[in-house]
Amino acid sequence: MWAELLPVGRSSASGGYRRYAWTGADTDCRTWFREQAQARGLAYETDRNGNQWAWLGDPAAGNAVVTGSHLDSVPDGGAFDGPLGVVSAFAALDELRGRGTRFTRPLGIVNFGDEEGARFGLACVGSRLTSGALTAGQAHRLTDADGITLPQAMEAAGHDPDTLGPDPERLARIGAFVELHVEQGRALDLSGDRIGIASAIWPHGRWRFDFRGEANHAGTTRLTDRHDPMLPYAEAVLAARREAELAGAVATFGKVAVEPNGVNAVPSLVRGWLDSRAADQEGLDAVVAGVEKAAREYAAAHGVDLGVECESFTPVVDFDHALRDELARILGKEADLRVPVLGTGAGHDAGILSGRVPTAMLFVRNPTGVSHSPAEHAAEDDCAAGVHALADVLEGLART
Ligand SMILES: [Zn+2]
Repeated sequence: MWAELLPVGRSSASGGYRRYAWTGADTDCRTWFREQAQARGLAYETDRNGNQWAWLGDPAAGNAVVTGSHLDSVPDGGAFDGPLGVVSAFAALDELRGRGTRFTRPLGIVNFGDEEGARFGLACVGSRLTSGALTAGQAHRLTDADGITLPQAMEAAGHDPDTLGPDPERLARIGAFVELHVEQGRALDLSGDRIGIASAIWPHGRWRFDFRGEANHAGTTRLTDRHDPMLPYAEAVLAARREAELAGAVATFGKVAVEPNGVNAVPSLVRGWLDSRAADQEGLDAVVAGVEKAAREYAAAHGVDLGVECESFTPVVDFDHALRDELARILGKEADLRVPVLGTGAGHDAGILSGRVPTAMLFVRNPTGVSHSPAEHAAEDDCAAGVHALADVLEGLART
């Protein structure tokens, strides 16, 4: 399965993946999913929002156990983010059939569409639509960089966009959703474990900092006469690092825009975007408040105005405690397997669904922690351990 997927949507220039929603590469991934489902005699369907499902047993019976992830990628993404969860789902089913497991609950495998949001700028479109977190009207207004709307892109790929919308009946049939995912950090590498269970997705948000000063000549303006917005911006970048270290959080200014953006001009405007994530709301609030305080003080000292705007915010996602404990109990039976419980700063479809369906996540060790990059990696024996753990979990859940 892995070998078949590897060449799909891979850029020969970067070695990274460009599997954007409703493009040719995405269609190839979807064809692969359908063929995997059909080869195993599973009932295959695409739902009203373009998510793909493969069923063992009749989902109408309800209380289904579902696993899966996504097949799309960020620009020049790695091979594992998303596909590992889908491939492991099919591989776990194969293992369970080999064990002769009998299921008393329907088992589903899902490929959620447009998880990364690389094309239309919004992540988890498939699961957001299904859960109602994104309305059909909002989805219809999404546009890519070429001005193509989401409905146009879906139609071109052969999917009817008029069916978009919440799917409560489908969600009501799911008793548990377990998403396996490559870890996007180094917690498992540092603890020396192959597999982890997610506790929560950290609260995270984006804040825009607008520093407004006065454009002037870089050669003739005395230092004391300047209102240079780059100075408090620089202070804000350093404060983000300081505050994040203090709070055990992360904070990043990864995008900056400068006006007039000339080498020989003192800037009139520096606009920087802060992305920050922390284990809890208190920690996140402390980081953002600390950065803003430092930036304001520095801005005032240099006669620069500062405006701070929160552009997006996602509160903490606490995964279902009972399901999480059930996973720990099932995996705890393996004498040589230690399975730590860890939080994550990355968003997932599992996070979107967690408000509607009991949801859990398994992480597979990533030796470098690198993700959203062609260098993203997981060792073959760790991936195999992930398949084995997922099979145990599905067997444990689907028999109860
Ligand atoms: Zn992912």
